[in-house]
Amino acid sequence: MKPDVLIIGSGMGGATVAAALADTGRPILIVERGEQLPDSDHARDPQAIFGAGHFRSPEEWLDGEGKPFNARMFYYVGGSTKFYGAVLLRYRAEDFRPMRHLGGKTPGWPVTYDEYEPWYTRAEALFQVRGAAGEDPTEPPRSAPYPYPPVPDEAEIADVRRRLRGIGLHPSSLPLGVDIARWLERGQHPWDGFPDTRSGKMDAETILLTRALERSNVELATRTRVRRLVADQDGNVTGAVVERNGKAELIEAGTVVLAAGAVNSAAILLASGLANSSDQVGRNFMNHNCSAVLAVHPWRHNRSIYQKTLMVNDFYLRGGPDDMPLGNIQLLGRVSRPILKITSGLPGWLAGPIADRAVDFYAMSEDLPSPDSRVTLKGEQIVLNWPRSNWETHLALVAKLKSVLRKAGFPIVLSKPFDRATPSHQCGTARMGNDPRTSVVDPWGRSHDHPNLWVADASVLPTSAAVNPALTVAAHALRVGHAIAEAA
Ligand SMILES: Cc1cc2nc3c(=O)[nH]c(=O)nc-3n(C[C@H](O)[C@H](O)[C@H](O)COP(=O)(O)OP(=O)(O)OC[C@H]3O[C@@H](n4cnc5c(N)ncnc54)[C@H](O)[C@@H]3O)c2cc1C
Repeated sequence: MKPDVLIIGSGMGGATVAAALADTGRPILIVERGEQLPDSDHARDPQAIFGAGHFRSPEEWLDGEGKPFNARMFYYVGGSTKFYGAVLLRYRAEDFRPMRHLGGKTPGWPVTYDEYEPWYTRAEALFQVRGAAGEDPTEPPRSAPYPYPPVPDEAEIADVRRRLRGIGLHPSSLPLGVDIARWLERGQHPWDGFPDTRSGKMDAETILLTRALERSNVELATRTRVRRLVADQDGNVTGAVVERNGKAELIEAGTVVLAAGAVNSAAILLASGLANSSDQVGRNFMNHNCSAVLAVHPWRHNRSIYQKTLMVNDFYLRGGPDDMPLGNIQLLGRVSRPILKITSGLPGWLAGPIADRAVDFYAMSEDLPSPDSRVTLKGEQIVLNWPRSNWETHLALVAKLKSVLRKAGFPIVLSKPFDRATPSHQCGTARMGNDPRTSVVDPWGRSHDHPNLWVADASVLPTSAAVNPALTVAAHALRVGHAIAEAA
């Protein structure tokens, strides 16, 4: 099939565009470098997942100093959403506007929250998000309720919620895309970081691709890696050079949608020498500043299995030094004995008792866009130079969280920042904007330089906010799908 629309990448952005365009009847080919994630015993084995890195790509990138590192990327049908924590949270209305932070000012978006709202609503409906409106003080206006009631707190988490309320905070239910009964049928584990072998997570494959591929006009080619795009003299992108079974092939298409994830999409554009008249491709890489914070009470056991059902946004917009924004606090997937031992490096005799007693939080603050935080190429190898930004905000958030957890009745609170080799929330490398001199795509994801090239993944986000990105990627990709259909 010579596709009319070629979609590169089958993760959150690519699968959403495919689903949005499936009903148009246009021939659509999705190319994905990975294969379908196979089910196996490894899929619920913490040692295989967090220790041996069974599912991670062995690919090495270079850091800002030229040192090789394994970036912990997951290349499968469905992309990173196969492993995600399924938190499907909207950016707050304020995130679309310029905002002052301890580490600098964010530029705001070229669109308002109100313009995005209907797309968020559609994305929540598609992903069958479980949530509760009206609990969170920073919640933006919504035109529809959550499609499903929230995933229930386990007993220990209900107790944490009471304790946090008791000290004047406003814990709220995390909006989640997981069918908890189905997930637990397959094994008593959390879902955050665990692969979804089509067993209850609402991810890009299970929710979108499966349905899109039922249409005869939609095809998926796996193990097909795009190396570069090609364009004619008039600036129209004519297709992509892919590597399949060790051989290079050209796939031609009338419309090309790039959705390989923020780092790989930038790498593809840089390798192609396209869409970069602004010199912004690869720049403004962002990834959030995150720490795990473990709240321990020596005499209380945490017997929860999944744990990840609440968040606290009391310090999202204010509460830091000079009343500056600090970020979002949410629960991590339950950090069990083996997971803590592997991820902390503590000896088993110490990790075990701590894991049994800890409630595990995730503190996340905004990473600010900077032209010097960037993806480049050295030959074919990816170089990721990610200098930390706004770190003072993150330290203040962690300090604030520790102090409220102590007040809430946890005498021991431990923390550890996530390292820089984990680009889970990568975004920003082909940012959207109205000005072709300072942005790569327009607010609908269309390249300023090439009218038939669209970018539909996390690379377009002009700011990272302090919110998990996937729902915003889906909302953007729905807009891209709509705009492509309108442009036909
Ligand atoms: C462990 C983990 C937990 C997370 N938890 C959450 C969460 O709870 N909530 C949330 O909002 N976000 C979460 N995220 C982030 C979220 O998954 C991403 O923001 C989202 O998937 C980004 O969508 P994307 O389309 O940009 O990229 P992806 O979903 O990663 O899709 C990119 C796709 O492109 C493919 N690809 C890459 N290069 C090529 C190439 N050259 N040719 C062909 N195909 C290519 C990849 O294999 C992949 O399938 C998490 C991520 C991880 C890793």
